[in-house]
Amino acid sequence: MNRDNVSILVISNNPKVIELVEVYSEKILEHDLSIAIAQNDYESVAQCIKQESIDLFIFDTQDLDEDSCSIVKLMMEKGISILFLISAENIEHLINRSFNFHLVDYLVKPMPDAVLQHKIGVYLENILQQKASEYLLSVYDENVIASKTDLKGRITYTSKAFCNVSEYSKEELLGKAHNLVRHPDTSPEIYKDLWDTIQSGKQWHGEIKNVKKHGGFYWVRVSVSPEFNYNGDIIGYSSIRQDITPEKYIEKVSLIDHLTQVYNKKYYDSVLEKEISSAARYGYNISLIMLDIDLFKTVNDNFGHQVGDSVLKEFADVLLLNTRKSDIVSRIGGEEFTIIVSNDTEESACAFARKLRKEIAQYNFGTIGKLTASIGITSFVQDDTSKTLFKRVDDAMYKAKRSGRNQVVRL
Ligand code: GH3
Ligand code: MG
Ligand code: MG
Repeated sequence: MNRDNVSILVISNNPKVIELVEVYSEKILEHDLSIAIAQNDYESVAQCIKQESIDLFIFDTQDLDEDSCSIVKLMMEKGISILFLISAENIEHLINRSFNFHLVDYLVKPMPDAVLQHKIGVYLENILQQKASEYLLSVYDENVIASKTDLKGRITYTSKAFCNVSEYSKEELLGKAHNLVRHPDTSPEIYKDLWDTIQSGKQWHGEIKNVKKHGGFYWVRVSVSPEFNYNGDIIGYSSIRQDITPEKYIEKVSLIDHLTQVYNKKYYDSVLEKEISSAARYGYNISLIMLDIDLFKTVNDNFGHQVGDSVLKEFADVLLLNTRKSDIVSRIGGEEFTIIVSNDTEESACAFARKLRKEIAQYNFGTIGKLTASIGITSFVQDDTSKTLFKRVDDAMYKAKRSGRNQVVRL
């Protein structure tokens, strides 16, 4: 079905019928209308169907010979609605052919013009409604990342948009477990929460990072809903998603320090708040480490600001190289960095800080050679806020400076 065009095929040797169809259809349609008039023979109709997608076939026939029946069958195969204009003596014949009456309808000739017009009006209205809903469905299919799964999470339906974003074809997705697109960065807790929620009959909303077939990733905002049968049992799940990759990219860029590519002060602030409240609620330990490069001013003075910049970048790389994925490294000032270490004992966080001091002191920073840092470390205690924790680690770091630099002080 072409959305902007309604196409009627007429077979009739009565010019009045053709004129009635043309004049009336044009009057009520805002869409483009094409009316094809075919000969009552199979070949010319088959040709016509090949060239045009027909919405309605009006068949003004004298009798139902073999050719006419083949034409009707051809139309039915294509799912095209057929309106017969047929004389009274042929009706029985038509009914006896046992055509599919969902597609075949008739008017008995001769009929008043108004009757034919009314019938055409009803058909055109249906056709337009069908075109509108097909259009909406195609917009949905193209734009909404949608899928359905059975109870085990195996995909039973996917929209085109889901195929496009995931780079999988419909055939590749159908029947597969939905975790085909699961990205290793998305934590198992998120999936556990999702399954717990939907299996208890509720809707789940969240943001998930998914992996593409060829290895890239995309972020989606997802709503997953259980689907119920008439008994109220869950029979599957449906989800719709919105691609929020650009949004996530901007969010990420705004939280990353431009020079060193570690997190910035804004991210450090928000994560520390979150970590403190989780630590307080779940009783795990978090430690905060602060590093300030020693005598960094002399680097700028001796080698210039540009070299200073590249040393800062290299310093951040050394930190990343020596930390775990769960440690959060941020640059919170000119040559000041923090590391939030969660879920580790105070002792092992201290050991880590001492090892880090050594790694930095041993590292060769190219043009400028060696560099050291003064390090403060402290751990969360009851009633700490982000301010009290920061004050303590800052004091610890200054104590390391005052005590001669290149050392770790724990407070
Ligand atoms: P201390 O051991 O007491 O920390 O000595 P310091 O020289 O590191 O400390 P100070 O606070 O006196 O100087 C910090 C220097 O860091 C001053 C500034 O020029 C430099 N700095 C801060 N931000 C940047 C930056 O983005 N790029 C470069 N190249 N230098 C920076
Ligand atoms: Mg400083
Ligand atoms: Mg310094």
